[in-house]
Amino acid sequence: MVDLSYPTRIGLEQALQIVAGRAAQHRLPVETVPLAGAQDRVMAEDIRAPHPLPPFANSAMDGFALRAADLPARGERRFMLIGDVFAGATAAPEVGEGQCARITTGAPIPPGADTVVIRENVSVEGEHVMVKAGEKAGANVRAAGEDYAEGDLAFASGTALGAAQLAVLAALGVDRVPVRRQPRVAVIATGNELVAAGQPLGFGQIHESNALMLAAQARESGAQVVVQRCVRDDPEALRIALLDAAADADVIVTSGGVSAGEADHLPGVLRDIGEIHFHKVRVKPGMPTLFGEVGACLYFGLPGNPVASAVTYRVFVTFALRAISGITTVSKPRRARLDAPLHKRHARAEFARCSLRVDDEGVQWARPHAKQGSGMLRGLAETDALALLPEDAREYAEGDVVMLWP
Ligand code: AMP
Ligand code: MG
Repeated sequence: MVDLSYPTRIGLEQALQIVAGRAAQHRLPVETVPLAGAQDRVMAEDIRAPHPLPPFANSAMDGFALRAADLPARGERRFMLIGDVFAGATAAPEVGEGQCARITTGAPIPPGADTVVIRENVSVEGEHVMVKAGEKAGANVRAAGEDYAEGDLAFASGTALGAAQLAVLAALGVDRVPVRRQPRVAVIATGNELVAAGQPLGFGQIHESNALMLAAQARESGAQVVVQRCVRDDPEALRIALLDAAADADVIVTSGGVSAGEADHLPGVLRDIGEIHFHKVRVKPGMPTLFGEVGACLYFGLPGNPVASAVTYRVFVTFALRAISGITTVSKPRRARLDAPLHKRHARAEFARCSLRVDDEGVQWARPHAKQGSGMLRGLAETDALALLPEDAREYAEGDVVMLWP
């Protein structure tokens, strides 16, 4: 009997909407971690600047701090050198009328002063400094809070922390941050024909490659891989493997066994021990993609063809991991012109493996790889982008603009 309680052969948009809807129910818990361990984690709260940045007015250059009011309108003026303020100085001399203090980059502007004349523009004669007309009032001073004022929103909840974001938090003196727990991903490759690399191949056997690839993709998308294994095409073994994985993971990803073949047990197993939210999406590669839940886990049954596995991981699993991590930033849309005509032999949406190049005018071009077969790893390994050819359209001319999957 065919169970029609879930949608099948749906479009890409609808599939992503269903994933988003379920992912919203699976937000990862929040934990507070030291800043040093927060790389690639996602902020779970808004964070505001606890103090201004820079914290105090300071010099942008090495030079001499003085009062703008004392700058000569013409000719030059002699200033009395009353002391030094180097970066890290704990005190600074008060600068009065006609006086100046030697200052270095990052040192606090001494009281009384409001302008820095750079070292290269003055001549120093013993205790005196000669400043010519033409210097700008207020020059070379970085005002307190000019970067972030106290209380400014530094990062909204949902911001992923890269190098620049970590630097901002450190500069603001934040040493611990509330972030989403790293998603835990279980990767299970299925198929009786699979043999581990390093083992000799018997008749009809192939070397297993999806588990390693999907685990690498999971780590690339910021997840922790908690299970990485191979299971035979046996419903009982698959059932046990999924239930075991569900105890440790937030997201389970399998490859293989989701089509309509005799050995494709996963839809039946998922129906038994969990729930199916959709089966089959009108995309190529990746038509047989299965999505549902097992226990508290989101479950993705990706097709076994290696390219289909890789592409559906990027399209669906990465999308789900971002959603459960609460990432709010939308990836920038990227586009390119096709640098060769393309004929789509079906109505489904297609993710074409392409190599990108930018010409002298700054126009980005996408060259579809000659090997677009969903079992052909070469087309994946030798390209750097997926061009999305939407549903229905079939003929693409050279120069047509296509969207690149983020
Ligand atoms: P399936 O989705 O199980 O029907 O598998 C589709 C194709 O992908 C078959 O040619 C499989 O041999 C191949 N395949 C399945 N799983 C893997 C894997 N883990 N590594 C490499 N190839 C695979
Ligand atoms: Mg199989």
